Amino acid sequence: MAVSPKQVVVVGGGIAGLATALALQERAAEAGFPLACTLIEAESEWGGKVVTHRVGELIIEAGPDSFLSQKPWALELCGKLGLSGQLINTNEFQKKTFVFSRGRLRELPEGLVVIMPTKLGPLFRSGLLSWSGIARMALDLVIPARRGAGDESLASFFRRRLGHEAFERLVEPLMAGIYAGDAEQMSLRATFPRFLDIEQQHGSLIRGMLAGRKLTRPAARLGSPNRTMFVTLQNGLGEMVQALVGRIAGAGATLMPARQVVAIRARCDRPGVRTYDVVLENGSAVSAEAVVLATPAFVSAELVRPLSPASARLLDTIPYVSTATLSLAYDAGALGSSVGGFGFVVPRTEGRDLIAATWTSLKWAHRAPPRQALIRCYVGGVGREAILKADDETLVRRVRAELRSMAGIAAEPAYVEVNRWERGMPQYTLGHLDRLEEIKVSLRNYKGLYLTGAAYRGVGIPDCIRDGSETAAEVIRHLASRQ
Ligand SMILES: Cc1cc2nc3c(=O)[nH]c(=O)nc-3n(C[C@H](O)[C@H](O)[C@H](O)COP(=O)(O)OP(=O)(O)OC[C@H]3O[C@@H](n4cnc5c(N)ncnc54)[C@H](O)[C@@H]3O)c2cc1C
Repeated sequence: MAVSPKQVVVVGGGIAGLATALALQERAAEAGFPLACTLIEAESEWGGKVVTHRVGELIIEAGPDSFLSQKPWALELCGKLGLSGQLINTNEFQKKTFVFSRGRLRELPEGLVVIMPTKLGPLFRSGLLSWSGIARMALDLVIPARRGAGDESLASFFRRRLGHEAFERLVEPLMAGIYAGDAEQMSLRATFPRFLDIEQQHGSLIRGMLAGRKLTRPAARLGSPNRTMFVTLQNGLGEMVQALVGRIAGAGATLMPARQVVAIRARCDRPGVRTYDVVLENGSAVSAEAVVLATPAFVSAELVRPLSPASARLLDTIPYVSTATLSLAYDAGALGSSVGGFGFVVPRTEGRDLIAATWTSLKWAHRAPPRQALIRCYVGGVGREAILKADDETLVRRVRAELRSMAGIAAEPAYVEVNRWERGMPQYTLGHLDRLEEIKVSLRNYKGLYLTGAAYRGVGIPDCIRDGSETAAEVIRHLASRQ
């Protein structure tokens, strides 16, 4: 007798939802049971924050423009999707990154791994820190590791270990470039737990870094020695979305774009066994034995509120910040001599509008034709969201004024594109990991209902892919236990 397929609905077709759907199909095939997977996305396009626009020969990333190669999950997915040949490294001839500090762009010391310098010589030579700042940093060698398991903010941790100056001029701007967050509020355990591990193991960040070189060659350790720290796809990250959608549809999933999920209803068919109705804006519903919410936490909160008000309240406490990216294309010859390297970050203490600017066409090949230069500016984030109230024209004017005063770019751009990300970036604030545990407990009566995506266990693309895949494994275990 044919076994009827297990029904699973994934809500949200961002990278996490797509990765979940693919992993569900793969794992169900491995487990040997038929699965009917339905993926529902509110927008007409797939990919969520991953949006690539092609404008003539320009490749413009509206959201993420690359991903970390140290975390293997995105690289592995690209391999699986046949995209390894499309992966590109950062331009090895332009490796420098700058920080705008005390009135000018200063080169960041080479050997940075994410937010932490791993080579001390270049740090000394960079002039970014004063001698007293460097001396304070060296105290990291003798300051004992913190006792106690309580959460600590990023700001408190790095100030305690490396001093105020290294935190403000080096760590904070690099961190803000990733999370657009407030380091005073962000949980170290939830964002950069390996720094905590290094402190606990070596008693000092510098010693840990010099000793095990734990952080210095991670890409090599993970079997991708030819990859730079960040990588992207030749035709933009949208390629990954297209390939994923093609693969999922090819394996038989039902794809429902431009359909908003407005409610989840739960039925109890047998004691402890639930079935869900996923209700769409047009009143129709899709039934499922398991539902994965791959939506932002504030959307998931509304969907679970009638089922579990406690879970909704906890989800409500995951804050989001808004940001915008501005892509500006110029004639290649029109930019001044300050434009070199990958771009620059701006410490919060500088009080500027920009969080960061990337010289996109220098950092990556294929982003603009040789006659053009593409720049991408990042604005908004915690404490700097006011600028987002401005209309596009004003936003562009203010960003151009920043580029003029910080990098001497006075030329008129030939093309400008503004992409706004309202509540686009979740913030892992103090106590985030405890909150996740509480959310799990609060949903224990709703077996078969899962949460994945950037709000929980990593905001970057590789972490979203890993989380989607691990969530799929949980779903498959749950379905197998119902058989
Ligand atoms: C400007 C910016 C730059 C970034 N840069 C990088 C970077 O360079 N590298 C990196 O690794 N990461 C970067 N990130 C982070 C990363 O892009 C995101 O964290 C990740 O893409 C989020 O994926 P997700 O699937 O969890 O969520 P989303 O992409 O937000 O997907 C959620 C989906 O759910 C859909 N949805 C919402 N409500 C409903 C509903 N009711 N019914 C149906 N569907 C619904 C949405 O339309 C959306 O498509 C960046 C993020 C931003 C905003």
